[in-house]
Amino acid sequence: MFCSVILRGATKQIDRLFTYRVPDELSDTVSAGSLVSIPFGKGDSQRCAVVVELKDSFEGDESVIKDIASVISGQPVLKPDQLALIDKISDRFNCTKGDVVELMVPSCVVNHKNPAEVFVELISRETAEDVLTSETLRSAAHINILEYLLDRGKCTRKELMSSLSCSAAQVKALEDKGLVRLVKELSDNEVPIIADQDVPQGKFTEEYDLSDEQKAAVKEILNGIDKKNPATYLLFGITGSGKTEVYLNCAKKVIAEGGSVIYMVPEISLTPQTINWIKGRLGDSVAVLHSRLTDKQRYEQWNNIRTGKAKVIVGPRSGVFAPAVDLRLIILDEEHDSSYKSESHPRYSAKDIARMRSQITGCSVVLGSATPSVESFYAANAGAYKLLELKNRARQEAKLPEIVPVDMKEQIKLGSGDMLSLPLRQAMSVAFSENKQVILLLNRRGFSRTLVCEGCGEPVTCKNCSVAMTLHNNRRNGTQSLICHYCGYTVPSYEAKCNVCGGNRFTKAGFGTQQLEELLHKVFPHEKVLRMDQDSTMTPGAHKEIIEKFANKEASILIGTQMIAKGLDFPDCTVVGVLSSDLMLASSSFKASERAFQLITQAAGRAGRGDHPGTVFIQSYRPEQPLFKFACTQNYRAFYNQEIEYRQKLKLPPFKAVGEIVLSLPEEDLLVQRANILAKYLNEFISYQDKKYQFEVYGPIPCVIYELRGRYRMSFVIKAVNKSAINSVFKRLIEDFDHTKFPLSFDNDPQEG
Ligand code: ADP
Ligand code: ZN
Repeated sequence: MFCSVILRGATKQIDRLFTYRVPDELSDTVSAGSLVSIPFGKGDSQRCAVVVELKDSFEGDESVIKDIASVISGQPVLKPDQLALIDKISDRFNCTKGDVVELMVPSCVVNHKNPAEVFVELISRETAEDVLTSETLRSAAHINILEYLLDRGKCTRKELMSSLSCSAAQVKALEDKGLVRLVKELSDNEVPIIADQDVPQGKFTEEYDLSDEQKAAVKEILNGIDKKNPATYLLFGITGSGKTEVYLNCAKKVIAEGGSVIYMVPEISLTPQTINWIKGRLGDSVAVLHSRLTDKQRYEQWNNIRTGKAKVIVGPRSGVFAPAVDLRLIILDEEHDSSYKSESHPRYSAKDIARMRSQITGCSVVLGSATPSVESFYAANAGAYKLLELKNRARQEAKLPEIVPVDMKEQIKLGSGDMLSLPLRQAMSVAFSENKQVILLLNRRGFSRTLVCEGCGEPVTCKNCSVAMTLHNNRRNGTQSLICHYCGYTVPSYEAKCNVCGGNRFTKAGFGTQQLEELLHKVFPHEKVLRMDQDSTMTPGAHKEIIEKFANKEASILIGTQMIAKGLDFPDCTVVGVLSSDLMLASSSFKASERAFQLITQAAGRAGRGDHPGTVFIQSYRPEQPLFKFACTQNYRAFYNQEIEYRQKLKLPPFKAVGEIVLSLPEEDLLVQRANILAKYLNEFISYQDKKYQFEVYGPIPCVIYELRGRYRMSFVIKAVNKSAINSVFKRLIEDFDHTKFPLSFDNDPQEG
């Protein structure tokens, strides 16, 4: 027998199907989806591969075909629906099939050492029967063992020894005679569901009578779980409307019918709180895949999913690859969250893959959010997704926080135009005197620097793209330029002029969490501050530790980036300050407004979750801007209507697809040289393409983060009618350019500018 395999993690050169022989003694163990070890290449180095199909014959010279070396997992590590996805994912996200296999078969599976579970099986029934009838065996134990195996088939050595009271040596003797074979294999029954370290608490198990809105949503979603009417639903519900309750009710029903559910949450919300809540409600059938697991624990979770013991898979974006048995439903909570998109190769989107899995398995997909991504809401309006709405808070008594817009231009006149406005400072003082807590929110790490007009507070924007321009130092001559990261339009900073009021006096904007921490020590010297950003949460567990400290009230102020806006629940937090809402807009991404609206909404949801109503201060240099009015009144539809108009006007997603190509090299001169070669190539390539693809190319443009890990980076932006047109350009580049001279990365769904 022969089989075709894909090498796990294959590079482009070796990314095809290879044929191997399945030795007779392995033919019962190997099937489509098995994980095997194979000798590969001239030196026969051992590689890990997945069997995609078995074949009886091989057309060609059989003598060159090598044997599979060993079986890592005979039980399929990939289900048929996953095998069917490999080509589609590789095509969509411009990666190798081997890359996809690597995503689907995590390293904990490859490295897993089978527990010493030894199985015993007959080499041949006929021989065993012959030996028994010819009465050549003298040992009663040997006879018993053969009869037992003839009777019941393959079983564990443990079982043999305990049922027949025989010894391991007696089994070994039969092996030496060539009558039985011992195989080490994973016994699915022996792997226990991971013990709960965090015991679910009573309050998590409470069930509610669903509101009419919740009931209607659950009913509609359950319509599709028999796989007859699969659909993608957009569950659009204000914060606190009880979306979680909808997910849990649907999941419960799916489990009751024997199916399974993938339930994804943003990386950052995968807290013990969330996990306990879900476990408390859905019991032992929950498998959790989070980053704090050891390899062994991760393997146990994964194996419980593969065998169907775990029916609900809770995890971050990688959960979308889980080998679920009879998958009926995929849930993406906070579907707008950027963590569903991978920012390293392969740059896949879990949302897209969820939809691809749905097309293959017939499962339904639920996307939930209080602030859906513009693309998703557009799809729902266009009828591609079914819109389900929750317009009211689930708990009637829950009070909405008061939202206070703060005009920072007024604050400048009062001498408080720095990070903390007077009303915010006063509210903080009151909160501290009442032993309450405060959360302060900044955007990102203060990376993107821009110029903000001192007259009107507007950042300098690109005349072509209406996104904020980013300040760059020209290393050669010490001057500064403003650059648009969408079209490459550049002006020297001394020529900058405000597009709104014509002013030419500017402030550099872009302060970070560390400066804020210093200021707080000066203003509130007696208060303890916790800081959460990418720098302070590098080490595993650091994030959890900061949250626990704040929850235990070891500090009264928590400052951080958008990380802290998500899904956290601190009953004693009564004041939330959004400090840099303008800077969110001054980011160069076309998603800036969307992100700002989402962030403010989430931040507002953090205040006053206990019995005390909360207050949210939103500081802005431009409070008259529509976006802030919409955010302060939490009017998503008004925001959406304005935003979709802008996207249409500028032909941005969802109206056209955007792709980004990044070239990175350690030497600046070479980078410039090769970027120009690429530019020429791209422009020429596109000039030959049919008009219907609507190609546009911009670049080379220095990346927002120009220097990264010892490399300089330039990017190109391509717009086209859809993602496959963008991909066709990527594929040409992959074909035509030597990766060692032109190290390129490709993204057909860039999230940040
Ligand atoms: P969302 O995810 O939509 O922001 P949650 O699912 O966190 O909202 O629900 C908000 C709060 O309302 C939670 O404390 C939840 O326990 C509670 N809740 C949800 N559904 C109901 C209901 N039907 N009756 C009473 N309380 C509910
Ligand atoms: Zn521009």
